[in-house]
Amino acid sequence: MSSALRKEYLAALGLETWTLRGPAAAASEPVAAPFEESAPAVAALPREAAYDWPQLRERVAACTRCGLSATRTQTVFGVGNLQAEWLVVGEAPGAEEDRQGEPFVGRAGQLLNAMLRSIGLKREQVYIANVLKCRPPQNRDPVPAETMECRPFLDRQIALLRPRIMLVVGRIAAQNLLRTDAKVGTLRQQVHSYGASGVPLVVTYHPAYLLRSPAEKRKAWEDLKFAREVFARG
Ligand code: URA
Repeated sequence: MSSALRKEYLAALGLETWTLRGPAAAASEPVAAPFEESAPAVAALPREAAYDWPQLRERVAACTRCGLSATRTQTVFGVGNLQAEWLVVGEAPGAEEDRQGEPFVGRAGQLLNAMLRSIGLKREQVYIANVLKCRPPQNRDPVPAETMECRPFLDRQIALLRPRIMLVVGRIAAQNLLRTDAKVGTLRQQVHSYGASGVPLVVTYHPAYLLRSPAEKRKAWEDLKFAREVFARG
C-alpha cells in the first residue's frame, strides 16, 4: 500500500499521527442427510450442517425462528468473498443494514472499512457476518433466545468459509462466540480459538463503540496489528 493511502486510512481511523510498523499486510459440500431416523447420533446435528451457501442464504431469508422476523425489513445474511481468509463477525444489523440487507454499511461500517484498510485489507477481500441476521428493534442487545436460534446459521457460514482467522468486533459477538461473560478489555490481545477446527480468533472493540469513544481507537489499532501478526504466523 502506498504511504499516501496508508495515511488516508489511518486518518479515517482518527490515527493520523501513528506510524504503521512492519509490512502492511496484507462451496459447498453438503454432508449426508443428517436426520435419518435410523442414525440417532447424526440426527442431533442442526439441519444447517448440510446446507451449501445458496441453501443457507435461502433458509436465513425465510427464517421465522424468533420474534425478530416480525420486525425486520429483511434478513442480513453476510457479505464478501467466499474464498476469504479473514472473517469479521459483528453483533447484529442496525437500521441501515436492515434497510440495505448488507452488514456494516452505516457509519460503523465506514469505520470498519477504514480499520480493515489500515492493515491492508479491502472490504471485498474479507467476509463479514453478524451473530444475528435480523435487526433487534431500537438496536437493543440480542436476547439469549435470539442468539441461540440464529447461531447455527453463523456456525454453518464459518464451516463453509473455513477462514484462517476471525476478527470479532464488540462485546456481544465476542461473548457469544467464546461463550464467556468477559469484557472486550479482557478478551483483546489474546489468541482465542473457535470451534473444533481451532480457527484463531482475535477480539477488538466494535466500530460503533469506537465512534462513541474515539480515545479507544488506539487500542483497536493495537488489536488490528495483533490480528495481522497472528494471521502472518499462520
Ligand atoms: N453493527 C453490527 O454489529 N453489525 C452490523 O452489521 C452493523 C452494525
